[in-house]
Amino acid sequence: MKITKIEGVLARFPLPKEMRAVWAPGQVSRSIGLTVVKIHTDEGITGIGASHVVGDVQVLASIRSLAAPFFLGKDPFQMDEHIRTLYSASFFGSRLWLVDQALWDIVGKAAGQPIYRLWGAAQERIPAYAAPNEPRSPRETAELALRLREEGFKAIKLSLHDQQMKDDIALVQAVRDEVGDTMAIMTDANQALLANAPEPHPRWDYRRALATARALDALDVYYLEEPLYIYIYDFDAIARLTAETDILIAGGEWNVGTHEFRWLLEKGAYDILQPDATQSDGLFQMHKVAAMAQARGKKFIPHTWGNGIGLAANLQVALSAANCPFFEYPYDPVSLPVEVNQWMLQEPLRVDKEGYINAPTGPGLGITLNDELIEKYTTHRM
Ligand SMILES: [Mg+2]
Repeated sequence: MKITKIEGVLARFPLPKEMRAVWAPGQVSRSIGLTVVKIHTDEGITGIGASHVVGDVQVLASIRSLAAPFFLGKDPFQMDEHIRTLYSASFFGSRLWLVDQALWDIVGKAAGQPIYRLWGAAQERIPAYAAPNEPRSPRETAELALRLREEGFKAIKLSLHDQQMKDDIALVQAVRDEVGDTMAIMTDANQALLANAPEPHPRWDYRRALATARALDALDVYYLEEPLYIYIYDFDAIARLTAETDILIAGGEWNVGTHEFRWLLEKGAYDILQPDATQSDGLFQMHKVAAMAQARGKKFIPHTWGNGIGLAANLQVALSAANCPFFEYPYDPVSLPVEVNQWMLQEPLRVDKEGYINAPTGPGLGITLNDELIEKYTTHRM
């Protein structure tokens, strides 16, 4: 099999209503970007992939100049060589893990199997946690948790973004009081890489992270994600916090490359690693990260915030990992319904009435693009 053609488009989907994300204070979004790549082969199989949350013309330029010339005429199965080409491209241009996704989609389709089945099929379904995005009061958040429980979710992630620690704890307390022990609660402080935003972020120092971690542990919170404002490379501080607390400490969505996750593991930083197939590394590299974590008794729960294609790619890796106890499902019934986050898919990936996300049955990534809608909202072509 040979690669014959690579296409890329940038599309911009208009949101039905304005969106505010709690991790970008004061920022209002009216549309969401998506960069998609399609790789064609001489056997008629086409693979697809998407880049991380913000669509970007630079990704298209990088594919054109740093990837396409090296992939045309090549066998898509030679993934070890291809990932080296993508490392080179990510150094000189943009991160192009979307190309890796498309290549694995081809491999899975050629084998007639979903990708996770090529790597051991560790799980067939995973409990999903709803990851809503809008700022809400404690009362409103507790009501949201009840609504999600009614829909089947057994877990919810809460964003901690108040200036005062006591208000963060009050938010979690309100939800715990409402749901009792019927739902798992995860928390995210988003401190590792603060998004550019019009209004100031709360910034946590080590003392606040430690005190918050202990207060959350008393509320039986499952994990605390990205608790330190230190960018992503102060592994010693994260390791110290991981050692000094009983609650699980999670992070890694901004780290890039298997070597960074190896360093995190060697330092003892984090109990749960959270790479993302759209921004951290290629799919099989992430499977290796999960295996490295497993060998050290650590967990692996990929970050999936982005779009339906990234969600599908991360799901394949999660299903291939025995140490993945939950799956992040970006969802807010009001501001981020399934049809918005997964607007580019014919059939969105849904969470069932028991709160699980199930393995897709189709080969490769197991998804089909809504080409008509993508065409309608395309703003740039490669
Ligand atoms: Mg996060």
